[in-house]
Amino acid sequence: MTILDGKKLSEEIKQEIAQEVKEIASKGERVPHLAAVLVGNDGASLTYVGSKVRSCEKIGFQSTLIHLPEDTTQDELLEKIKELNNDEGLDGFIVQLPLPKHIDEQTVLEAVSPKKDVDGFHPENFGRMALGMESFIPATPFGIIEMLKRYNIETSGKHAVVIGRSNIVGRPISILLSNKGQPGDCTVTLTHSRTKNLKEITKTADIIVSALGVPNFVTADMVKEGVVVIDVGITRVPDENAKRGYVITGDVNFDEVSKKASFITPVPGGVGPMTIAMLLKNTLLARHRNMKNS
Ligand code: NAD
Repeated sequence: MTILDGKKLSEEIKQEIAQEVKEIASKGERVPHLAAVLVGNDGASLTYVGSKVRSCEKIGFQSTLIHLPEDTTQDELLEKIKELNNDEGLDGFIVQLPLPKHIDEQTVLEAVSPKKDVDGFHPENFGRMALGMESFIPATPFGIIEMLKRYNIETSGKHAVVIGRSNIVGRPISILLSNKGQPGDCTVTLTHSRTKNLKEITKTADIIVSALGVPNFVTADMVKEGVVVIDVGITRVPDENAKRGYVITGDVNFDEVSKKASFITPVPGGVGPMTIAMLLKNTLLARHRNMKNS
């Protein structure tokens, strides 16, 4: 069994990006610039945005954090997005989700210019991704694909079972795994909360991508010997003995499933760190595409 070490891999990717940034800077050109918009004070969102900004700084990107108050109106947020769309010194930006309840997420995501949409959430990017065209691929599925690629995991003709159909993980990874090429060429089954006999389906899987957010949901009796397991789930489970009062838990019961798996991601240290690395990669791609078109 091989542990898919997302922490190590993400460090390698970040080093490669940092090297490119050095070269850009040494030519006297502007380095990639990523902005993050955060509305309100949600604890997990503050942590995520903070670590995105810190990662930018570490690899030499310029970064800007735009922290707006909880009572920001939708119109005010849309005005800010318009400003960022038109800012020529900015390559890409993200709007951290979830947004406060009084703001319609879809309206906001559609307001982001597809050229700066480094999260890959705009319908134009999603459609282009589905058609195998140049786009921004959402960071989490992009990270999973990169992980399969760098660990040389054969995917052609394999049965991949995805658990969860969210727009940011389950649905896009199911499309990417079914696309032509390596990694890809899988026969994909996309399962969700209404799926019947899930266990019968997962038992036939060569590759399982679990993105539902239920701790330890995937157990040993649900998988076959030699399966490749990608655990996307991140749930904070209360734990009095932990320093922060909780532990981060994945969707997969790692202890038992790892005994049957050929490859498996740990949580934490698997898909999570890859997600940030691929957001940075998307920002670098945005920089290159901007340069090409300017
Ligand atoms: P979501 O929370 O929007 O939706 C959950 C999905 O799981 C739904 O499609 C639902 O149909 C499915 N589901 C729920 N119960 C099910 C069941 N019993 N059987 C089969 N399917 C079931 O999904 P999300 O936003 O993709 O998040 C999923 C998990 O991944 C969460 O824990 C989230 O924190 C985590 N996540 C991690 C990263 C990362 O970087 N590692 C990125 C995004 C999300």
